[in-house]
Amino acid sequence: MRSLKLILLGAPGAGKGTQAEIISGKYNIPAISTGAIIREAIQSGTEMGKNAKSYIDAGALVPDEVVIGIIRERLAKEDCVNGFILDGFPRTVPQAEALEAMGVEITEVLSIEVPDEKILTRMAGRRVCPKCGATFHTEFKPSPAGENCPCGEKLTRRSDDDPEVVAARLETYHAVTEPIKEFYAGKGMLKIVEGQDKLEDTTALVAAALEG
Ligand code: AMP
Repeated sequence: MRSLKLILLGAPGAGKGTQAEIISGKYNIPAISTGAIIREAIQSGTEMGKNAKSYIDAGALVPDEVVIGIIRERLAKEDCVNGFILDGFPRTVPQAEALEAMGVEITEVLSIEVPDEKILTRMAGRRVCPKCGATFHTEFKPSPAGENCPCGEKLTRRSDDDPEVVAARLETYHAVTEPIKEFYAGKGMLKIVEGQDKLEDTTALVAAALEG
């Protein structure tokens, strides 16, 4: 299978994380979520985590230099040699430029698009495991262990999935992140997939876009 160095774009809750996990299994490459890395840092109480917490809680973006540093470190790891999926990075044009300046060669950019109204209802059902980071949805991707994660931990709601914070995150997405689409469209790299109600329908469209 060819090497895949993929950027997944899309609003918060569009299904990037779920699709990233599926593609990761299929291509045997790591799915890298800057949001997950930051949440881990918050949980383990590192200096970076402490600084990032106020941004996340407000639905704002963590400063570019912090996330660029995270990505530079992560992409230098051995497991990225044969490809990777970036879920949630870049989120600003300067981040996209920094990635390019690092000499990282992206092979695909895929945007998963879902209307804001749908995002708002979807986020209400999103659940996450505070221990292993697995994500579920009460309706669209229920945990086989009900209200628990298969690892045994009780599932929780991400604090930034609170409706007011989601609204702020969507606003930031449209104002600051969406212009990235132009950045990659200008390079002839952008593919768009309409996120579907059923997870497996989105998975099929994503697979077709990557294979096509
Ligand atoms: P996510 O899990 O991708 O929804 O990210 C959760 C939160 O982490 C975001 O709302 C931001 O506060 C922060 N974050 C994640 N990735 C980035 C990024 N590339 N740039 C800035 N902030 C980020």
